[in-house]
Formats: sequence, C-alpha cells, structure tokens
Amino acid sequence: MKLEDLEEKIGQFLPRVDRNKLRNAYQYALEAHGEQKRESGEPYIQHPLGVAAILSELEVDEPTLLAALLHDVVEDTSIPLEEIRQRFTEEVANLVDGVTKFSSIAYASRQEHQIENLRKMLLAMARDVRVVLIKLADRLHNLRTLNYLSVEKQREIARETLEIYAPLASRLGIYKLKWELEDLSFRYTEPEFYFDLARRMQRRRSERERILKDAQALVEQDLADHGVLAETQYRAKHLYSIQQKMLRDHLSFEEIYDLLALRVIVRDIPMCYEVLGIVHAIFTPIPGRLHDYIAMPKPNMYQSLHTVVIGPEGEPLEFQIRTEEMHRASELGIAAHWRYKEGGKRDIVMEQKLVWLRELLNWQKEVPDSREFLERVKVDLFADEVLVFTPKGEVINLPMGASPVDFAFQIHSQVGQHCAGAKVNGKIVSLDYKLQTGDRVEILTRRNASPSLDWLQFVRATSTKGKIRAYFRRLKKEESLALGKSIYERVLRKHLGAARFADALRILGLIDEEALFLALGQGQLAPAQILTALNREEQKAAEEAHIVLTKPQERPVQVTGTEGVLVRLARCCHPLPGDEIIGYTTQGRGISIHRQTCHSLAKLPEAGRQVSLSWPEGLTETHYVSELFLRAANRPGVLREITTAISEEGINIEQINAYPLPSELTGISLVVVVKDVAQLNQLMQKLERIPSINEVRRI
Ligand code: MN
Repeated sequence: MKLEDLEEKIGQFLPRVDRNKLRNAYQYALEAHGEQKRESGEPYIQHPLGVAAILSELEVDEPTLLAALLHDVVEDTSIPLEEIRQRFTEEVANLVDGVTKFSSIAYASRQEHQIENLRKMLLAMARDVRVVLIKLADRLHNLRTLNYLSVEKQREIARETLEIYAPLASRLGIYKLKWELEDLSFRYTEPEFYFDLARRMQRRRSERERILKDAQALVEQDLADHGVLAETQYRAKHLYSIQQKMLRDHLSFEEIYDLLALRVIVRDIPMCYEVLGIVHAIFTPIPGRLHDYIAMPKPNMYQSLHTVVIGPEGEPLEFQIRTEEMHRASELGIAAHWRYKEGGKRDIVMEQKLVWLRELLNWQKEVPDSREFLERVKVDLFADEVLVFTPKGEVINLPMGASPVDFAFQIHSQVGQHCAGAKVNGKIVSLDYKLQTGDRVEILTRRNASPSLDWLQFVRATSTKGKIRAYFRRLKKEESLALGKSIYERVLRKHLGAARFADALRILGLIDEEALFLALGQGQLAPAQILTALNREEQKAAEEAHIVLTKPQERPVQVTGTEGVLVRLARCCHPLPGDEIIGYTTQGRGISIHRQTCHSLAKLPEAGRQVSLSWPEGLTETHYVSELFLRAANRPGVLREITTAISEEGINIEQINAYPLPSELTGISLVVVVKDVAQLNQLMQKLERIPSINEVRRI
C-alpha cells in the first residue's frame, strides 16, 4: 500500500483533511522505523499504513488517523513521546501514548472473570475510545499478516483476540471489525473446524445464492411497484458466528446455515414499516419472529426491523429492514459517532459518547444466563471502579478512590489484618494512597502488624470497612472475655458455688459462663449487682414460705408456747420431718420454718425473731415438698432415667426444670413430694447411682 492510496480513501469521507499533516506523520514514522521490517519482510511502514487504512473505513477523525500512522513509534523506536507532542498535537500524542500503554498490559490468568476485568481495564485505561479503535485496527492488521509467525505465536494471538479484542469490538458495536477479527482468529485457533465449515459453505453456496436471488428479485419488483427506493443485499454468514451458534444451541451446520437472510436498506423510518408490510404481503410471516428494534433498540442502540417469513421454496427467510443511518451505526458502532464531531459541538458529542459507551458496557446480548447477566450489570458501575493488578498479574476490582488497604483485604482478610505497607508500581506508597487503574500493587505484611482504626477514614470498599470493624469487635470481645474472667476469679468465685453460679445465670437470663464473663468484662454487670440479684431471689424464696398443711389442726410441728400461730414451711430449704429446724417469726404471716443449715436465715433481719422448734411424732402421712439440684451429662435420655428412678420410689414429681450449664452439663432442678427426710435420702442415693449424674444436692 502507498500513502497516495490512503489519502485517496481518506479524501472520500474527510474532504477537508490536511494532507500536509498526513504526509508529515507518514514521513516521520517512515524515518523513525528506518530499516525495521515486518515478519513478512515488508518495510515496517506498511503496518501503520494498513492500520490507518482500516480506520479510514470506519471514517474516523484526523487525529485518530495521524495517531494510527505514529502508533508504534514510541513503542518500537527510541523516540520519546515528548517529541510527538512537540511535532504534532497534544491530542495526537495522547492517542499514541494511550495505544502504547494499552499494548503494555499483559494478562496472566485466563479465567473468565479475569478476562472480563481485563476488557474493562483496557476500556478504562484507554480513557479515549479512539485509542481502542486504533488498537482494534492494529490487531486486525496483525491478524491479516499472521501467516508469517510461528504456529504457537499465531494461536496465542488468535486466542487473545477472541477473548479480548473481538468482544471489545462487539461492545463498541463495531461489527465490521468484530466479524473479521473473529473469523481470522477462528482459522488459527481451530483450523480443522474452520476449514470444514468453509468447505461445507462452499458446497451449498450456489443453491443458497439461487434462493436468495429469487427472493431478492420478488421483493425488488414489489418495492419498485410501490415506488419505494431501497437497496437489498445479502452477505455470507460468518464462520465464527456459525460455529458459536452450533456449540451454544447444539444445532447442526444445516440447521443454522439454512437460515437465509436478506437486508433491505431504505431512506427513512416510515419506509421501514412500509417495506415490512410489502414483505409480509409477498411471503407468509412466521409468528413470533417479528422484532421491532426500531421502536425498542437493543441496549447497544442497534436498530432494525427483523422478521422471518416462509421463503420461495418453503425455507425460513429472514429480513432485516433498516435506514442507512441505522445500517451505518450497526456496522461502525461507536465509530459512527465521529461524523458529528466536525459540526463543532464537541463537548455534547463527547458526553453522548460516554453515555453510549456506558450503555454498551451494559449490553446483555451475549449473555447466556442470569449469573453472567448480573456480572454485566456490575459493569454499569464501571465509572466508579478502579482496576489494578496483583504481582501475579490478576486483575482486582475496587471502588474508585480505593486504597492499598482495600486491595489487601480484597486479596484475603489475613493479608489485610497484617498489612504493614504497600508498593505501587514498585515504589513504596502510604496506605491511604489512591489507587489508579492499571497500578500494580504489592502488599507488605508483617506477622505482628494489625489494623488501625484510622484506616476507616480512607478505605473505600464497604466490605473493607466491615472487615476492619469486625476485627475490632472481635478483638474487643476477646479482651472483654479475659477481663470478665479475671473479675470473676478475683471477686465472685468465692461467693458462688456451682449451684449458685447456675442460679445466677438463670436469674440474670444469661446463656452460659461466657455470656456472664462478657457482661462483666464489658461492664454491663457489676459483681455487686450479681450478688444482690442472687440474694434478693433467695430472700424472696425464704420469705415466701408456704403452708403445706391442708388441715390447720394437723399441725406439722410443735412450736413451744405459740399454739394457734400460722406456720409455714420455708420454700428456700424445704424442711422435712427428720431435719433439724428453726422457726422465724414473720410480720403478720406467722412463723416460717427453715432447716437449721438454711443460708437464707442469715440474711433475714432481726435474729431475735428466731424460735426453737421440733418435729412432733407421728406425722408420716403428710406430704412435704422438697427440692433437689442435679448436675448431669447433657445427653438425651437423662431426664427419662431420672423420672423413672423417682417413680420407682413411689414419689411424685411436682416440677422438673433443666437448663444448660457450661462444659456440656445440664442443671436439673427437681421438686418432689416426700413424707420425710429418710425417704428423700433414699431417693438421692438412687439418683447418685445413675451414671450420667454427677451430683445430687438437696437445696
Ligand atoms: Mn502496531
């Protein structure tokens, strides 16, 4: 190719292009590349010329064409960017710089989410979409001349194209590039498949063309009769898209290839609908196959009417009806938008372009399932993201303004918790450094490093904030537990035996000892409060002694010198005949009887109100309430064993309660009705013989 050919091409869509500038750029690149040769043996200048030629088919603007001619100068020669800036314009230099940076991004992982991130990163880094256009044209030209490379290199480049560049072209709506990129790559990644398809297409081509020509003739005749000016065309289906459809929908080659398509291009939108009517009058439409993408464009702004009808020989035939404008947009995608730029309203166009780009990024056309759809929806937040590399070349996705600490926690909570410093692109930075897309980030960890509360001031990711807060909560909990435990050991332990400890938990509504320690350590409970609550409870039990006797004349006890006085058996210690007892004169409620060992007595006021008592003879028929406390292994069946043992003794159970104790034990409080202390002792011995029971105590 010669410069004159390029000028000729450009002149067709950019009549006012500055030819001197073009020649300057060409001459400059020619000298810069000097003796360099392509693998084909051609002078190197043929490559930038070819790239500019591809871009001229997209009808891009002048700076893009100049940058295309210069795109490999900085990367492949010793010329600094500064020189480009001086000799050409800031704009051209920025484009060249963008392309150079773009090329320097290598990617390590081939996992799908990594590839998706990489595509986003490329778009984000390009900043200017024209950089991506140049890069796509560059890749296309390289693919066209791929023959001269080794087989491994061919496969590598082809695969990268299918994974990164063709999807980018697709996102940008540039089908013209997408199709060629795909078919050229397909040929190198799966040569057998490719050539097999090509052969089969070749064999059926004449038959297809005959059918399409017949249909085309029919339609053109009718359009002419209606006075509609239209251009009809048909084109070969792309091999790669046939292969993808075969694989995706499990269809045979014939099933896909047999769908014939004709395109009708008209002047304006009302005419599109008129043509649709004419087509439906000639051929029978297949229900459910009419799509109005004019009224409802696809997310990438693709517009067209699609309908499938029964063709002249009974086969399905697809029509795509669109205006020239729509056709151009579908072929050139985002590149089509540069045409407006010459009008001068540059900022508005730029604005629209960015909006459009965002819409493209959100495009769902190629989404096979909802999981991936959600992935794409996240792309909508593209503008708020920063994409950075790990030292291994993985791409990490973070919110805009994220710091190395965000990065560290994203890698792993442990990395975050021991983050001691960070390097960005090989240089030490502060932890509140704001990461930029494309940064290569390395976290320096130290075993004894730990998070700082200050980090909450500058971290951006919600998840990082959550993790830091959780760390401090956890830290606090551990500290509080240790503190609570030491308070318990120093102050409470001597006041609380196992039984009172269990009572305390029950009264305070705490689940286990850890909850108690935590409440103590966090200062929610003071030791004095715990003791007061316990005492109050025990005192209440002592005060609320109740009368066991149903008949007042059958007095259970002899109270010296107090005949006729109301007598109650204290609930706190449940005295039984045979126990050593003592009476306590309550105000207005007679005398309550306690066992001499009852610890409630000490707490009752005015010791002088105590009276000596003794049990009378012959009270064996009366039933007395007694309470036992058991500690047993926390395993199923224990309660059944206990109740069986009790009923074997002919004793009634009035109440049974079980609650969990620390260390896998169950506390069981048991209220039974017995006739005296002897019967109770016998029961206690029996219970003690049950293997699951650790302790039996009378309360
Ligand atoms: Mn190049």
